[in-house]
Amino acid sequence: MRNKTLQVDKPFVYDYSLEDWKQWTEENREPAFRAGQIFDWLYVKRVTDFEEMTNLSKALREKLKASFSFVTLSEIAKYESKDGTVKFLFELADKNAIETVIMKHSYGNSVCVTTQVGCRVGCTFCASTLGGLKRDLRPGEIVAQIVKAQQLLDAKGERVSSIVIMGIGEPFENYDAMMKFLNIMIHPKGLNIGQRHITVSTSGIVPNIYRFADEDTQINLAISIHAPNNALRTKLMPVNVRFPFEDLIESCKYYMAKTGRRITFEYALMGNVNDQAEHAEELAQVLKEMPMCHVNLIPVNYVQERNYVRTTRDDIFNFQRILERNKINATIRREQGSDIAAACGQLRAKHMETK
Ligand code: SF4
Repeated sequence: MRNKTLQVDKPFVYDYSLEDWKQWTEENREPAFRAGQIFDWLYVKRVTDFEEMTNLSKALREKLKASFSFVTLSEIAKYESKDGTVKFLFELADKNAIETVIMKHSYGNSVCVTTQVGCRVGCTFCASTLGGLKRDLRPGEIVAQIVKAQQLLDAKGERVSSIVIMGIGEPFENYDAMMKFLNIMIHPKGLNIGQRHITVSTSGIVPNIYRFADEDTQINLAISIHAPNNALRTKLMPVNVRFPFEDLIESCKYYMAKTGRRITFEYALMGNVNDQAEHAEELAQVLKEMPMCHVNLIPVNYVQERNYVRTTRDDIFNFQRILERNKINATIRREQGSDIAAACGQLRAKHMETK
């Protein structure tokens, strides 16, 4: 069953890849090079009005205006953290709200995008899933988040250097829109974001892990694993009932064998739930069979509606030590934007409460 998405009279300009523009220009009896010009105006010059596309004929601009619209992402709120993280709460055309985060690193600016309004996956430690899934984002609504971020960075002479698809939603449940978004992002004639600088994170939608493995891209894959066995994972992530732990691990092995690329396993540490030495030992046994993998330990953020406490500092380092003793590469995620509720879904949850 397909999820709902936004129905529009005119598609968004950002819904179209360069190949789509080529097809559109052909169907509209315009010379093929016009497609490249339109793409350039959208992603290199980043204009937001057809009238600014001055090397197109007046007639073509009128045709574009009649056939397409620009995405409306109205800024409801913008929070800036002391560490440089900027978090946006945007309102979409249908008044739904989504979040986008720009994180500042020593190596550049990374943007975390949302792929769905809400989420139906139901991870028990996540605020994004509290109101369930409202709808999928259109490809253009995902693209618009990056264009907005880039416009903000343009003022500082900086660029979006990497993208993480880890915001609200399960990207593998909005697969086609996510792939269209990626196609637009990596295009050398557009924003030209390096494939190796993009990471897609999934809670473990197994059939689409196989599909993604067969796509032949250089884009990174992260798996939210969060538990070392089937029983505990089911308690934390209801998605594990649909796609059990063993099947998930099999799909990861297939991905690695097919692509030759490593997987990052995200592991959110929750005090006394999944963060003890025995959990680390068990995880190490599972991951030993995948020597190329990497574990990213994330001390979980407090979510008011759930009763998880933070893992102690000692337990965090102990968990890491056990993995490394078993020759599994493990890092602890640096917390960013904690003073502005930057964890996924927290701003939107607050916004929904006030509404
Ligand atoms: S962690 Fe991701 S997949 Fe899980 S409920 Fe939250 S948004 Fe959905």
